[in-house]
Amino acid sequence: MQVLGLGATIGILGDGQLGRMLSQAASRLGFKVVIFGPDKESPAAQVSLASKVAAYSDEAVLAGLAQRCDVITFEFENVPATSLDYLTGLGATVAPSSKALRITQDRVLEKTFAREQGIGTVDFRAVDSLDDLSAAVAELGVPSLLKTRREGYDGKGQIWIHSIDEVRAAFATLGARPSILEARADFTREISVVAARGWDGSVRTFPIGENHHVGGILSTTLAPAQVSDAVVARAHDIARRVLEGLDYVGVLAVELFVLPGDDLLLNEIAPRVHNSGHWTQDGCLCDQFEQHIRAVAGWPLGDTAALQTIEMTNLLGPDILAWPELASEPHSRLYVYGKDDPRPGRKMGHINRVKS
Ligand code: AMP
Repeated sequence: MQVLGLGATIGILGDGQLGRMLSQAASRLGFKVVIFGPDKESPAAQVSLASKVAAYSDEAVLAGLAQRCDVITFEFENVPATSLDYLTGLGATVAPSSKALRITQDRVLEKTFAREQGIGTVDFRAVDSLDDLSAAVAELGVPSLLKTRREGYDGKGQIWIHSIDEVRAAFATLGARPSILEARADFTREISVVAARGWDGSVRTFPIGENHHVGGILSTTLAPAQVSDAVVARAHDIARRVLEGLDYVGVLAVELFVLPGDDLLLNEIAPRVHNSGHWTQDGCLCDQFEQHIRAVAGWPLGDTAALQTIEMTNLLGPDILAWPELASEPHSRLYVYGKDDPRPGRKMGHINRVKS
C-alpha cells in the first residue's frame, strides 16, 4: 500500500452519520471524499465532495469509484462482501478487507473466530431449523437468546427464550432464518474497546468506554470507564488479537461483557467506527474517525490518550428537538447528523459532555 499523499481521494461505502463524520475528519486532513450509498438525502453526502446514489451491488458505479479513489473503505457492516471483492478485482485498494467483513457479518463465524484467537464468548449453537433450535435450547438451557446470524443491530433480530414452549414462536418471529442461540451472559457491565491497525501492522487502542443500552439501543458511553487495570489490559489484548487475527486495516470496535471477577467475553465486533467511540471526538486529540482515515491512508496512527472524561449521549428521534437547550449547555459539544425525519429510535445526533 502506498501512503496517500496530500489531497488524495478516499471512497466510502455507506452514507449515514458514520460516513459523515469520517468524511469531515478526512477533509480536515486535506483528503477528498466520495460517498457511495443508496440514500438520496444522505448525511454523508451533505459534507462530501461528491456522492453516488446506487445499490451497493451496482457494478458500473463500483467501477467508477475504483477508478476515482486512491483507497476505498466502508462505514456500514452490511455492505455486500462481494462488492469489496469486485473492487479488489478491479485493482482498487480496499480496507478493511472483505475477509474481515465476511467474518463479522455472521455471528456464528464471528464467535468461532473469537474462540480461535483464544477470546472467550458465551456458549452458542448455530441454528438452521426448528429441530436445531429445540436441541440447542435443551443444551444451553433457559433463558437463552436467539439472534439472526446476519443483519441484526441495535437489539433488532433477537428474542429471549424463557422456556422450551416458546421455541416455535421465537423461531417464527425471527423469520425462520439461519440464527444463533446464545447462553445468557451474567455480566456486571458492558464495555467496548475501539482500536486501529495500520497497513504496517501498528496498533493503537483507545481507552475503554462503558456502555448503557435502553431498549437494545446504545444510550450513553462513559469514557475512560471506571474499570480495573486488569479489565483495561484484557480488553486491549482482545482488541489486538482481533485486529491481528483479521489482518485488519482501519478502526473497529469490540463489544465486551464484564463478568463478576473481571473476566471478559466478546459479544460483537463492529468492523467500522462505532457509536461507542464518539466520545473520542472530545476526549482525545485524534478521534476514531481521524484514526480510521489515517489507518486506511497509510498515515501514522494518531494519539489515543484520553485528555478528559466524556459522557456521550445519543439523541434519538425527537430528542434532537431539544437542540436549543442542548446547544446552550456548558462543557458540552453537540453533533447533529442532518437527517430530516426524527422518527422514534432514529439516531439524529449526539452530545459529548465533559465530566472532568
Ligand atoms: P447485540 O446486538 O448482540 O449487541 O446485543 C444487544 C444487547 O443485548 C447487548 O448490548 C446486551 O445488552 C444484550 N445481549 C446480547 N447478547 C447477550 C447475551 N448472550 N446475554 C445477555 N445479554 C445479551
